[in-house]
Parts: sequence; structure tokens; C-alpha cells
Amino acid sequence: MEEPIVGIDLGTTNSEVAFIIDGLSTVLLDNDNGIVPSVVGLDADGRIIVGREALNQAVIAPDRTVQSVKRLMGRSDRIQMGGSTYLPQEISACILKALKERAEKCLQKSIGKAVITVPAYFTDAQRQATREAGEIAGLNVVRIINEPTAASLAYESHNPTAQTILIYDLGGGTFDVSIVRIEDGIVEVLSSTGDNHLGGDDFDQKVVDRLTAHISEDLSLDVIGNPVVMARLKRAAETAKIALSYEPFVRIEEDHIGKKLFRTIHLSYELSCADFIEMIQDDLSRTMDSVTKALEDASMLPSAIDKIILVGGSTRIPEISRMLEEKFGQMPHGEIDPDLCVALGAAIQAGREMGLDSSSVLLDITPYSFGTSVLGELNGIPTPHVYVPLIRRNTKLPASRSDLFFTVYDNQAQVEVTVYQGESPHALDNVLLGKFLFNLTPAPSNSKLIINFNLDLNGILKMQAIEKSTGNKIEGVIENAIGRFSDTEISKFRQRVDDMWSDPENTFESDPANGASGRPLPSDLETLIGKAAAKIEEASPEDRDEMVNLMEDIQDAAGDGRLEDARALAKELEEILFYIG
Ligand code: AMP
Repeated sequence: MEEPIVGIDLGTTNSEVAFIIDGLSTVLLDNDNGIVPSVVGLDADGRIIVGREALNQAVIAPDRTVQSVKRLMGRSDRIQMGGSTYLPQEISACILKALKERAEKCLQKSIGKAVITVPAYFTDAQRQATREAGEIAGLNVVRIINEPTAASLAYESHNPTAQTILIYDLGGGTFDVSIVRIEDGIVEVLSSTGDNHLGGDDFDQKVVDRLTAHISEDLSLDVIGNPVVMARLKRAAETAKIALSYEPFVRIEEDHIGKKLFRTIHLSYELSCADFIEMIQDDLSRTMDSVTKALEDASMLPSAIDKIILVGGSTRIPEISRMLEEKFGQMPHGEIDPDLCVALGAAIQAGREMGLDSSSVLLDITPYSFGTSVLGELNGIPTPHVYVPLIRRNTKLPASRSDLFFTVYDNQAQVEVTVYQGESPHALDNVLLGKFLFNLTPAPSNSKLIINFNLDLNGILKMQAIEKSTGNKIEGVIENAIGRFSDTEISKFRQRVDDMWSDPENTFESDPANGASGRPLPSDLETLIGKAAAKIEEASPEDRDEMVNLMEDIQDAAGDGRLEDARALAKELEEILFYIG
């Protein structure tokens, strides 16, 4: 067999090494998730340490620890570590050597060759320095490839169709956006831009700033001069930030952050996702400005982009997908782990260098979105069944996502939690998988409900709805949520719904097998329910109950195909609306 060649993503914050195993590109693990922090240090005995161990000592021994060396590649400045100075290549070589040893341990053979990735904007000098780092580590660098090229290979190495791809790469400390053209596995970078000092670390800092402000204002404690507490807050901030990618709220708890009048002070602070997004909104807008610039540089309109790929851990923040979807009208792809995607692509290139026709990346993803339905607005029009996806199409499984919902009126007694599968913004155009009735504790309107969907590899979807104030909850399970409908069946549903739009009176009689769940409301009833939803806050409590009952009964009747009943009920609802005014 050919001499093995590994693929290496030598990142600013983290690095990974991957190899083709049984035809599949695979990240090499060593009792971990494969992610090696790009940190090098000298321990107290002067021994070189790399990765997590070095990162852990960074706070207590910054003079013996080097981070983000990638930013200095290609420069001749020497870096101080302990009592000596080193070239950036030498520090990078330590990271590469650690990755080489990991590969040798996992594959049980000696490794002498690698494909290494670099940012598309790297100059010749920076690329040369990367080659030299490889050589110092005992690796012959057979190819240097661009990171966006590697990401495209991870997704598209087997797709024969020519495609234009936008790669949005937001990591811990840097942001890059590139547009590439991939054809027959050959990737050409058309434009590349970004910001070398923007990433997840900035978001952590914003959370830390919020916490120190709270500690100073509400707990009357000054912790800014205390490096240990600050390091703990930074870690807590990152953990909270990551949790907010999946949950609407997080409670940040840190015990013993200081003492006041002989009393120990603990931190307990709730941060909402909405608050967090507001804090980082300016940064996110800057990334979107770069996206616009990348399009301009490539002389392209958003519609010319066939696919958007997410790279870098920070792209797990759902708001990023939302912004890109808004701009491009298509959902970005993050199904290949965004932390590992570049290394997986580097290994595909390495496999090619070895003469292997390798190889795709193993994926378990959901082919559909799953969500629930709420009273809301679509294009500014009040609409009774707005679809709110919780688990998006192409999400890697298992997946768990929560979102926050609000009751509509005071003392609302019940809420019906629906589970839909599909992509349409109108819930009724999607496929209803289940309905669960939740009896609520009397409370003012706008009380918070958290809904969680958990979808596992076997397609079992677990729904949990929790009343935030009391912790009361209901749970439901939908077996075989993914396998239920084939693509053909889904497109059949979609076709029927499209037909329905052109003929609102069509009641689907042509297919008696279709359950109540598939039938959208005729547009006149939908408009009426939208009007009622908009008026509900103005109604007296008795009228509200009556209105909600009528709205539900109308939907049920229309859903069952009993349009006459639905219209009779609609008359009653119209009368209430008339006297409310
Ligand atoms: P990278 O440089 O690509 O390894 O990305 C690392 C950055 O991604 C760090 O700032 C992490 O805190 C951040 N990150 C990882 N997972 C998540 C997540 N689920 N939500 C938000 N940020 C994340």
C-alpha cells in the first residue's frame, strides 16, 4: 500500500488530523472529540506540552504558553516562551508533531506525509512558513490546500455537477468567507475576504462584560482585578454561549466569586438567547457585510450561489443560519461537524494524493425539519398556524433543540402543542405528526413555555413542553418520525397543497387516505382566524375563551373536510368580532 498521508487542519484556535479509513474520511480521536487546542507551552519542568494541557495552564502561566501562533506565521518576529524565543514555525511544528503522534498512535504506523490547510488569504510567505513547520515536525507537506477548498471537498467531492459554493467560516478568533467553484472535484477560489479578529472569543467577552456589570451593580463586588475569577467567568461565559445555541435560556451559576462583610457571594444569572443575540448583533452584521463584499468581488448576485457551507464552531449559533437564509433564500449546510469539516476535506485530498478514490464523510442527518405551530405573523399578516421549526433539515443526529413560546391571553387554561414535519412557513402545509394537550396553571398572558424536541438516530422524536414558572411539563413520543414519509410522498403532499392554493374549495376528496392533518384551511377561514388572533387581546376573558374554542373548532372541522360546519362556526366567530369592534 502507498505510504499513508494524513490531512491536517492547522487552525488558529484548534487543530485536527484526519485519515481515510475504510473509504471514509475520519477524524482521529485520542479519548477525545478529535479537537486539539492550538496551544503550546512549557510546563513547570520545562517540558513541551501541547493541546488541552497547554490551554489549561494558559491562565496561570501565560509567560510559558503560546496561543494563536497562526496569526504570526510568515513573520520573522520571535516569540517568547519561558526563558527562550522561538520562530512561529517552531511553535506550529510542536502542534503538528502532536498531531503526527496522535495519527501514529491511532493508525499504528509511522506517518511522514501530510496535506495541510491554510486560509485562502495566506500569502506565499505564510504558506512557506507552514511547509517549514511541517518539515520541522518531521512531515513532508505534499500539498498545502485552502481551507474553503477542503470544506468544499468534504461536502462535494463526489458530486459531478459544477457548483458555486459560499463558505461561511466563523471560528474562535477569525472569520472568513469564500466563494468557490467546484467542478469534477477541482476547486477554484473566486473570492475570499473576512476579519482576522472576529469570532467566538469576542462573543464570550461580551457575556463576561455582562456578568461583571451584574456583579458590580447588583452584587456590589469588583472582580475585574481577580484573574482567577475572571478566568472562571470566561469559561462559564463560553459554556453559556454554547448552551444558548440549543436552549432559549441559560442560568450561569458560579459559587464563591468573592466575599462581602464576611458573607460569601455566589453568582446566579439568567441570560436569554434573545439578549445574547442582541449583544453580538453588530458582530454578526459585520460578517454579513463581508458576505456582501465576497459576492461583489466575485461579481455575483446571491442567486448565483448553489450551496452555502458552514465551517467553524461559532456557526452553530442558529441566528447565523437565519441571517444567511434570509439573504440567500436557501438554508445553509452544517451537517458535517463544522469543527471537523476542514480536516475531513484535507484527508480527502490526502487520500487522492495516495491514489485512493476517496471518499465521502459518514453522516447521519435529518432530511426534514421538525417544528410546531403558533399564532403569529407571516409577511406582516396575522396568521393562525405559523410554522416554527425547532430541528432544522440537515441537522446532525442525535439532535435536541428548545425554543421559547408564550401564552396568548390571561389565565389561558390549555395549549395544544403540535409536532409538524416539513419546510413550509405555513404549518398546515406540512405534515402533522402529533398533537399534545397541555393543561396550564392560571397565569397572566405572555407566560413562558419551553418546548423541546429531541430526535435520535432511530428517528424517535421526543417532545417535552415545560411551563417555565412552575416547571410543570408534558411529554410525548413520536416513533419513526423520519421514516414516516418518503421524499416522493412529501412532494405529493406539497403538490396537493399547491393545488389547494389555486382552488381553496378543493377538499382533497381525491385521496381519502389523507388524514385530517394534511388539509390546509381555505383562505377565507384562514383570514378570519388571523383577524381573530389579532383581536384576542382586546376581548373580555369570556369572549377570549369562546374565540379560542371557535378558532380551534373551525380548524378541526376544516381539517376533517367538514367545510359546512367550519363555515357555520366561522359565522359565530364573525359575530363576536363584530361586537368587539
Ligand atoms: P473553531 O475555531 O472553529 O474551533 O471554533 C471555536 C469556537 O466555536 C469557540 O469560540 C467556541 O466557543 C465556539 N463554539 C463551539 N460550539 C458552539 C456552539 N454550539 N454555539 C456557539 N459557539 C460555539
